[in-house]
Order: sequence, then structure tokens, then C-alpha cells
Amino acid sequence: MSDGHYSERDLLRELFPETAQVIYGKAGSPKPGTLGLYTVADTKLALVYGAQLAEFTPVPPRGTSALHCDLCHYTRSRSEAAFYRVQVSPTLTRYVSLCLETEHCQRRAGKSGLKAFAERIFPIEQGYVE
Ligand SMILES: [Zn+2]
Repeated sequence: MSDGHYSERDLLRELFPETAQVIYGKAGSPKPGTLGLYTVADTKLALVYGAQLAEFTPVPPRGTSALHCDLCHYTRSRSEAAFYRVQVSPTLTRYVSLCLETEHCQRRAGKSGLKAFAERIFPIEQGYVE
């Protein structure tokens, strides 16, 4: 799974130092096969799947229609969910809607739901990151 140059932790530290601190700061060593969605920097979400990481940046809300959560598949009001954008390549940005209460959301989705979601997001092309 590793490319031999970077460990998951190194990669994360380099690309998203704030996220790495949240995920690994207190926990010690990362476990292989890590899968989880974490709140970082108050409003962002970081999706970690093995050595891959995606950062979700909230998009200012437009309109008032309900959102369909892409992870737990519940329909949420605008106060319960938000749009996030994730840069998957230099030229491609994806948008997803996710519950704000990510812990509850992940519990509803379960491990298999989170895995299916991660498989829709990854792979992320990170070649443009210096
Ligand atoms: Zn949800």
C-alpha cells in the first residue's frame, strides 16, 4: 500500500499538518487500514482511508432546500448538513453534502457506508502538491 517513500503519517503531516495533528497528535501510531472522517480546524472534515486523505472544505450555503447526506443517506435540513468541496485533482472539484454531526452520521452509515463513501472520493490526485 505504501509507495516506499512516505509513511501514511509522513504524507499526512506534510500535506495537512493540522489534520495530522488532530488524527495522530494524541493517538500515537496510525493503524494500517485507518478509515474515518474527522473534524479539523473547526469546520473542515478530513477523510482518511489507509494512506489516502481528502480534505472537505465547507461551501457557503445557497438556498434553503433540504440536503441528502452522501454518507448516511438521510435527508437533512440546512441547519443539520452542509455542502463540502473536495479537490480531487488540479482540475476537478467534487461536491458532497454531509451531516454536520459527523459522529452520528458515521454511526448511521456504519463502517461499510463509510468505506463506500471513501471509494467514491478516492483516489485523489496529489501530484500538484509540492
Ligand atoms: Zn449524514
